[in-house]
Amino acid sequence: FIHFDNVSKAFGVMTVVDNLELAIQQGEFVSMLGPSGSGKTTLLMMLAGFEAPSSGSISVKGKRVDALPPYKRNMGVVFQNYALFPHMTVAENVAFPLKMRGVSRSETAERVGKALDMVQLGQFHERRPSQLSGGQQQRVALARALVFEPEVVLMDEPLGALDKKLREQMQMDIRDIHHRLGLTIVFVTHDQAEALTMSDRIAIFNHGKIEQIGKPSEIYDRPTTQFVAEFIGETN
Ligand code: ATP
Repeated sequence: FIHFDNVSKAFGVMTVVDNLELAIQQGEFVSMLGPSGSGKTTLLMMLAGFEAPSSGSISVKGKRVDALPPYKRNMGVVFQNYALFPHMTVAENVAFPLKMRGVSRSETAERVGKALDMVQLGQFHERRPSQLSGGQQQRVALARALVFEPEVVLMDEPLGALDKKLREQMQMDIRDIHHRLGLTIVFVTHDQAEALTMSDRIAIFNHGKIEQIGKPSEIYDRPTTQFVAEFIGETN
């Protein structure tokens, strides 16, 4: 469904993603786990269209996407640093991707209502982001990513700023939405427990390469390299 073929990315002399091969199935929830600086975010940025690969190709449903601008890739993004617009209401924030795509007003109103209901924020249309809790703000970001009904959603540390209880609640909500909408989700996290409970498969990154990819139980019970064994052992 999503294919990375021999994808590399260098910034100057530094190779950040190194000849990467990765295939993701439709409907899968795949987490990227690995040390800081190992290339996880860069991989997501290339898939979203915010960075271009230095070489190699990325395709979705058999079509090359690496030359397409982000809004033509039909992917929702929830990045930790991809904040809400503070001067807009919740409803205006969620409507933004539809405005970019020229969707009519009446259809926009209907879809925004649906997306906000899905994240249980039906009462908050007219609030500003500053009047919401951190968890509620992340729900708005999620609604904004889902509002144009993408098949693929990319998330980079979406729950990083939340306290433990909210984080666990959002983990369940995201899993639920993943199942309900049949989404393909690519998820970057530092939190091993989070990757373990949420993912169909986990990819362990090291220096721009995937050391091992497999079901959580395979990664934890049968690490295939010393690096994976140590990485999992170290922070568990
Ligand atoms: P973290 O877990 O800390 O977010 P990561 O695995 O997501 O790390 P990346 O953000 O992909 O790692 O970064 C990989 C390397 O590429 C880092 O050394 C980073 O400094 C470098 N890098 C990322 N973006 C740029 C850029 N635009 N220009 C130059 N270097 C960059």
